[in-house]
Amino acid sequence: MDLKFSPEEIAFRDEVRAFFKASLPADIQRRMYRGQYIPKADLVAWHRILADKGWVAPEWTREWSGTGWTATQLYIFAEEMHRAYAPQQRSQNINLAGNTLVAFGTGEQKKRFLPKIAAMDYFFCQGFSEPGAGSDLAALKTRAENKGDHYLINGQKIWTSGAHLSDWMFGLFRTDPNARKQKGITYLLVDMKSPGITVRPIISIDGAHHLNEVFFDNVKVPMENRIGEENRGWDYAKHLMGNARATVARVGLSKARIAKAKALAQQVTHEGKPLSESPRFREKLAAVEVELKALEITNMRAIAGKRQDGRQDPKSSVLKMKGSELQQLTTEILLDVAGPHAMARQTDFYECRTDETLGPDWAAATAHSYFMARAVSIFSGTNEVQRNIVAKAILAL
Ligand SMILES: Cc1cc2nc3c(=O)[nH]c(=O)nc-3n(C[C@H](O)[C@H](O)[C@H](O)COP(=O)(O)OP(=O)(O)OC[C@H]3O[C@@H](n4cnc5c(N)ncnc54)[C@H](O)[C@@H]3O)c2cc1C
Repeated sequence: MDLKFSPEEIAFRDEVRAFFKASLPADIQRRMYRGQYIPKADLVAWHRILADKGWVAPEWTREWSGTGWTATQLYIFAEEMHRAYAPQQRSQNINLAGNTLVAFGTGEQKKRFLPKIAAMDYFFCQGFSEPGAGSDLAALKTRAENKGDHYLINGQKIWTSGAHLSDWMFGLFRTDPNARKQKGITYLLVDMKSPGITVRPIISIDGAHHLNEVFFDNVKVPMENRIGEENRGWDYAKHLMGNARATVARVGLSKARIAKAKALAQQVTHEGKPLSESPRFREKLAAVEVELKALEITNMRAIAGKRQDGRQDPKSSVLKMKGSELQQLTTEILLDVAGPHAMARQTDFYECRTDETLGPDWAAATAHSYFMARAVSIFSGTNEVQRNIVAKAILAL
């Protein structure tokens, strides 16, 4: 197996690199480098730049503005995006809502939603988790009653990222409470402006407002907003969550953080010398770099051995698990570099309204990034659940 990029792939990498260099607005890049959140308006602007280039939704089919890239090209694209400190496309829009519509939407639904999802005219959130239904997602209870021309929704979702900013939710709802739990679930698109929806903030450990509870009180959803068949939502969700993606390990993001830590450690003094000369610091950095190299090789092997039957490759669980651990470790290293200045904060962090910092520019958001990275091993399936999958599907335990 040849794990090196071919000359064509290197040419592709150079093209992507040059595009990011020329097209990424400097203020967005600066925020990304500093680990700050990107305001919605900036994210929308960046999506439109990618859309103009034809690169906003590379995984969609060509008919719907996809690129037809190979898994290796998708990997290179994601890696270059991190290297350039460009924001990733909003996954709720492109990977989740978009990919499901491409696979299971009617022609009418695709025409209605896909162009607006790509341009971020519609900002989507994901309504899956509920109190009591996280890892055991099929236990979800929020009820959608079929009333002939519409569904009537009552219940509650939780941990809904960006619900307060969203125009639409794609979600799973219980349509048959008597069927086996995976069988009575339906996938609906819900207009967040519908009467009866209440969104309440949850402030996370990084001090920011990403997360929400969403309450449904007799919310009407027209029949035409159902994706696929009634009671088959679990199948569509499995397809969506199980798509082993080339980018789940976010190797590029960890690499970019290590490069940043190395550069900044030269500017920070520790016991009278640059931190970059501290044996303890170098040892920690080297250990992470070795693990990251191993992950990168595993990632390339997963790409090279991609399953052709469209089913989930259990190797994606290894990538998710190890990738999230390394994302956490790299934010820890940056925390070591920033020291006490890591805690400096802006007055309105999430909206990025002020840029007040106490220490060096680059240090201000380090603690927030560190805290936010704790969530990477929880969302999209916790690391414990990934270990269960590896035990069953790879180790056959
Ligand atoms: C920052 C963040 C953003 C999120 N965004 C969204 C979103 O936009 N939309 C959405 O729908 N959800 C979202 N989630 C929710 C996320 O998917 C759930 O938190 C996750 O699935 C875990 O579910 P839970 O929180 O209910 O924990 P639980 O499932 O209750 O798990 C609690 C603990 O028990 C462990 N555990 C559970 N079952 C097993 C098992 N079988 N074997 C071993 N250990 C087990 C878990 O690993 C965990 O450590 C988000 C979560 C976070 C942290």
